[in-house]
Amino acid sequence: MNMLPPAARCAFSIEGDADPARTHANAFRALGLSLDSHRGEDLAVRSPIDGALLATLSVHGAADIEAMVARARTAFLAWRSVPAPRRGELVRRFGNLVRDNIEPLSALLSAENGKILEEARGEVQEVVDICEFAVGLSRQLYGLSIASERPQHRLTEYWHPAGVLGLISAFNFPAAVWAWGTTVALVCGDSAIWKPSEKTPTTALAFVGLLQRAMRDFDAAPAHLVQLAIGGADLGRALADHPGVDILSATGSTAMGRDVAERTARRFARSILELGGNNAMIVTPTAELDLAIPAITFAAAGTAGQRCTTLRRLIVHADRKAELLDRLIPVMSRLETGNPLRPGVQVGPLIDGDAFRRMQAALERARAEGGLVHGGERIEDGLPADGYYVRPAIVEMPGQTPIVCEETFAPILYVMTYRTLEEAIALQNAVPQGLSSSIFTMDMREAEYFQSALGSDCGIVNVNIGTSGAEIGGAFGGEKQTGGGRVSGSDSWKNYVRRATATVNYSSALTLAQGVRFDVIEDDRATAPQQGGN
Ligand code: NAD
Repeated sequence: MNMLPPAARCAFSIEGDADPARTHANAFRALGLSLDSHRGEDLAVRSPIDGALLATLSVHGAADIEAMVARARTAFLAWRSVPAPRRGELVRRFGNLVRDNIEPLSALLSAENGKILEEARGEVQEVVDICEFAVGLSRQLYGLSIASERPQHRLTEYWHPAGVLGLISAFNFPAAVWAWGTTVALVCGDSAIWKPSEKTPTTALAFVGLLQRAMRDFDAAPAHLVQLAIGGADLGRALADHPGVDILSATGSTAMGRDVAERTARRFARSILELGGNNAMIVTPTAELDLAIPAITFAAAGTAGQRCTTLRRLIVHADRKAELLDRLIPVMSRLETGNPLRPGVQVGPLIDGDAFRRMQAALERARAEGGLVHGGERIEDGLPADGYYVRPAIVEMPGQTPIVCEETFAPILYVMTYRTLEEAIALQNAVPQGLSSSIFTMDMREAEYFQSALGSDCGIVNVNIGTSGAEIGGAFGGEKQTGGGRVSGSDSWKNYVRRATATVNYSSALTLAQGVRFDVIEDDRATAPQQGGN
């Protein structure tokens, strides 16, 4: 990443200009960063807003991964010796740079990914938040002190840096998912190689550019501590296969995760998988619709239905379906769809034409399986011809048919009914994915039952709040075909360290565990339990 001298920076304001290519170029200038050293002819990066060319980049090949892993290993060997709180200081400096540049970072993220500016700001804020979380963690990488069964023995567990992290990320959270894993891995003492989505490489270049700036005046940080691999799935596969990558974190579709999981399992590497979701909300007889309607709308239509936690299935009590849909359908149809850089727009474009075609194919299948579709059509009036804008769809289904059990990465909300809570929970759990879930109820028994072992089988279990928009403090991830991984939050840092269990004998006898006797010295002194030591 080229860095321009500070004098070349310009003040940044998006106001009055919603042109994606210009916004993208201005944002890079405001950040004092340039794409010049990455320009090439391999990868055309287009804005989903209007199809404008944002950059043409050269990509890495699988052979480059070899050299990157070797450099990452060297960096790791130096970084692991730096005290953890000092490692946290680097993350703190990076977090401050991100905080100082929220506006240009949000604008370029929105221009490249298509999410509305407000949500892009939220994603950049999430990067700041996880930096703060990681800085705090850098002084809390606690081990355990365990009661030993043997006299004058000390039994402890502690954590060491694990090695090289390979991180593959998806297009829909082009910055936050990387930051979740990488900032925590950095304070844990690991080095990292990031393979971002080929649809959002310039956002990755901007964030890594700022990290490199934070490292410039930070002597303790070795070269190549964090590297970027720009390109497609072949690079992800090369990382998953490489014996020098100790931890492989992969966020994306279940199909991708299955491939990565098999590759890493074959070589016994650790994997952290954050895969597809098929998230549901149960709306009960006591649900407050004034809360539920906005929650459903944001969860189903926010980010144009392209969040892993997007609400895709609404399981509503049969007695409340008519009332709910009478209010929800007009709200969803009134959402302002358009250029996500414009103020007031609530739904941006789908990432590309393929996403649009997959959405239309899913709606066709839903009709064939008995669904009644509201919305879902392409919106072209006054919008760029090369952007794929849609009205979010609500589909009344006769039951949980095969299409409902699949994740279609677009704003489609399937609606089904239930009679008993057990029936609703069974429906909710009867899909292959297990990421996020929610219930709207004022009945304490229902809320508790839903969260209990008999309730939702998901990694995220919410009450009177939607399925999307998690905070960074809690562990984030899901079960079943969502992969079981927890990239960040809570004690997920333990994914980025290796555990050592240490037993220290400070007595003058060799006592075996479980009372085993194994006498090799004639006077039997060696295995006799002793009190008092010296
Ligand atoms: P995708 O699976 O197409 O691509 C994700 C990343 O994996 C990209 O960087 C891609 O180049 C790489 N990749 C693709 N195939 C690969 C392979 N065989 N081996 C190694 N790398 C490979 O996903 P996408 O379209 O970018 O993102 C949407 C998907 O991501 C949805 O399914 C969504 O639910 C999921 N997602 C999950 C989470 C989560 O935390 N659970 C978060 C964000 C997105």
